[in-house]
Amino acid sequence: MKVTVIILLFIFVYGNFNAKSQVSREYQQRELLAYNILFGGITAGIGSAINKPKGSKLIKTVCAAFAYGMLGGVINFSSKKVLYNINKNEDYRFAWIANTGSCMGNSIIYNASLNNKFGSYWFFDLWAARVELNLRDKSENKFKIKVLPNALIGSCIYFAQKATLDVRTTLQTGIITFTLQSNPYFYGNTYMRAIGTEKNSAGVTEYLSYAHEMTHYFQFREHLVFNTWLKPFSKKVPKVPKAVFEKWVYLDIPWFYGFYALETQNDLRNYYQNFYEYEAQFFATNSYVSMKLW
Ligand SMILES: [Zn+2]
Repeated sequence: MKVTVIILLFIFVYGNFNAKSQVSREYQQRELLAYNILFGGITAGIGSAINKPKGSKLIKTVCAAFAYGMLGGVINFSSKKVLYNINKNEDYRFAWIANTGSCMGNSIIYNASLNNKFGSYWFFDLWAARVELNLRDKSENKFKIKVLPNALIGSCIYFAQKATLDVRTTLQTGIITFTLQSNPYFYGNTYMRAIGTEKNSAGVTEYLSYAHEMTHYFQFREHLVFNTWLKPFSKKVPKVPKAVFEKWVYLDIPWFYGFYALETQNDLRNYYQNFYEYEAQFFATNSYVSMKLW
């Protein structure tokens, strides 16, 4: 069954990459779907090989994780598609639907990468907290609430820049949000796990920039799958910090910024040649994204 799913998805993804007739909105959408599916499948597959239990068969383990990782990728893609509704309907409440989907998709991917049984681990990120439900945990403690350090660090950066906390949008979205001073070049930005947008900017609505920034927020979360690759090293961590991370703090390492930096364009004209900017703009506008701004 799993092998069949993999083969079918491969045919689908391969077909999409070959459909290069012309670069259009549909082509970009297929490309982003393929990226999200493959990112989930490949990161979970590699993770499952790293975390493979002794005695299990490598190919079988990797194939299962690859299939579940791809499923997580489809859910991640669908969650990003919901973001356009924030822009279209000028309604922040769609952020909750998108965020729930993204947490589900990534729960499935992390779980597959750790070779845990499907559905045995779920998380939901809310403001500066990660709520975890771990059904594998034999103790009473299946339910944990952990601090997300980078939600606090991101907030501190905004406070240092004298941005004001946007309490209303923070409550409406479940994500810590700030209002930025007006700046002709940027309508919004995301620091770690906190979002800042301008209100009443002349060029772009606050809802469009929010949907764009929320895609970056999701990209940050997706790259946390690399934490699961470090599980073998966690055995070497001394008892005291380990206990803190197991109970109170989820170490949300900003892997994403390393990848983002590799894509950074020095010339503003080529801004969307940065893959992550292109992805964010596509999901915010649900329209073709031109690679040359002028
Ligand atoms: Zn951006």
